[in-house]
This record gives sequence, C-alpha cells and structure tokens, in this order.
Amino acid sequence: MAIWDFDYTSVSSIARLLEENGLGMTKKFGQNFLISANVLGRITALCGANERSVVWEVGPGIGALTTRLLQTGASVTAFEIDHGFCRILREKAYSDVPNFRLIEGDALKTWKEVYEKEGAPDMVCANLPYNVGSVFIASLIENRCLPKRMVYTLQSEVVDRICAKQGDESYSGFSILTGIDYQNREALKIKSGCFFPPPNVDSSVVVMEKRETPLVPSEDASAFINLTRVLFAQRRKTVRNNLKALGLPSEKLDEALEKSGISPTERAEKLTVDQILGLQRALR
Ligand code: SAM
Repeated sequence: MAIWDFDYTSVSSIARLLEENGLGMTKKFGQNFLISANVLGRITALCGANERSVVWEVGPGIGALTTRLLQTGASVTAFEIDHGFCRILREKAYSDVPNFRLIEGDALKTWKEVYEKEGAPDMVCANLPYNVGSVFIASLIENRCLPKRMVYTLQSEVVDRICAKQGDESYSGFSILTGIDYQNREALKIKSGCFFPPPNVDSSVVVMEKRETPLVPSEDASAFINLTRVLFAQRRKTVRNNLKALGLPSEKLDEALEKSGISPTERAEKLTVDQILGLQRALR
C-alpha cells in the first residue's frame, strides 16, 4: 500500500494540484484546508486511532488529515461532498490504499446508511464548516450513534457552546445535547494562518470523550432530547411558555413544574440536566 506523498503544508502545491485538476475552493462548503504540520499532527494524536480503530472522517478535502489517520493503520471511512476532491482522493491519493473508503455526497445524508449497516465507528474526526459540524454532531447524538471519541475542528464559538456548563454565557440546548453522553474539552486553538485560505473566524478543536455513565439513562434519552428541544425552542420565552408547545393541559404543566421544583418563569438556560430529567419524569 502506498499513501500519496503530497505536501499538504505547501500552498503552492495545493494551488497547482487544484489548477491541474480544474478545481477551485468553494466558500459554500467551508473549504479551508489545514496546512500546519504541527496542528495536523496534534489533531491526529488527539484522535488516538490505531490499526484496530474504525474512524470516520467528515470533509476530508484533498486528504491533509486523512493521510495522517491512514498512517495510524486505522480503517478510515471519509465522507466528502465535493466531487472534484472525491476524484483526487479516489484516483490519486488513495487508489490502492485498502484501509481507505470514500462515501461521496452530503455527510448529513449519507452517514446513517453506514451506521445502520455497521454501527458506530470508534472515532470521528472532522474539520468542518461550523453549520455542518453542529448539525452533524446533533444528528449523531439524536440518533444515538455514539462513537467512543469525537474530535472536531470548528468555529471557536461553537466549541464554547459544546463545552459550556450551566451558568456559562455560552450554555444552550446544544451544550445539554452534547453533554449527555460526552465529556467535552477544548483541546486546541488554531490560528487562522494554519488554514488555506485563512478563515475570518477563530477556530478550535474540541475533544468529545464518551462518558462511562451517561448523564441521562439510555431509556430516557430520546424523550429527554425532545424535551430539551422544546424548552430551548425560543430562548427569550420562559420555561412554561415554551412547554405550551407540548399541547398538554395547563394544570398538568403547572403540576409537573412544581413537582420538579422549577419556577414557571425560569429560562431554559438556567436549568441543569437533572432538573430537565426531573421535569421529564414529572410530565410522564
Ligand atoms: N479535512 C480537510 C482539511 O482539514 O484540510 C478539509 C477541511 S475543509 C474545512 C471542509 C471539508 O468539508 C471540505 O472538503 C468540504 O468540501 C467538506 N464538506 C463541507 N460540507 C460537507 C458535507 N455536508 N458533507 C461532506 N463534506 C462536506
């Protein structure tokens, strides 16, 4: 097996490769390639894959991180939307690399089929535009696809939300969703000069490590996730006003709020996971 020996840290080599293949970078798909060997090495180390690991990479681009992941000996399934990049990956970079598999298309649509057939991977590694990244993470968790570790390069603001605890400014429904099954930490800040082209937002790497015991028992998880979505549907509204969307009689709502010790005028961002779980049980 021969992994492509391409210099991913050289902007001129990348530009030449794209030009030779009649390709360009598309803003629409948030295409900012990592060109720092140091950052690529650190992300790979954070992922911690080895020859026994099954890894999904979302948005491999032309393979800067993919090559590092393949070098660990892991089996890598890469999901890429850009057909031009897919051609490079398939025909040039990894044409005879047996531990590489490409799934062409929008990862938000294609991942489920792989999951249904094969189950969750050990790890997910991705450097994605923030909107795709957060929808992808939410989708995995909502569908109970729970890899042991996930390492994402995202806009720093999104990483702050993932790592926020109740009481923090960035705390949101997304913090709750990503915290049920995972312990999350910002592992790295990445300067914009480490990307080509440099993005105009700050980027960070978040490591999401699966908890041995989730904060919400698995039999309650789906109902808990739905209730969290309802509670955070409109940030400015009180808990009680958001809960009206459940269509339950007001007495039932008031009774459940009282039973779970939550003031009806509270805002969802003040609630802890335990309080939401208590409310869910009281609403049953
Ligand atoms: N991994 C490469 C790197 O770090 O240099 C490229 C990262 S670039 C920020 C994001 C990549 O995600 C691009 O290759 C882009 O085409 C791809 N992408 C964007 N949206 C996607 C989606 N919905 N499904 C799959 N790939 C997507």
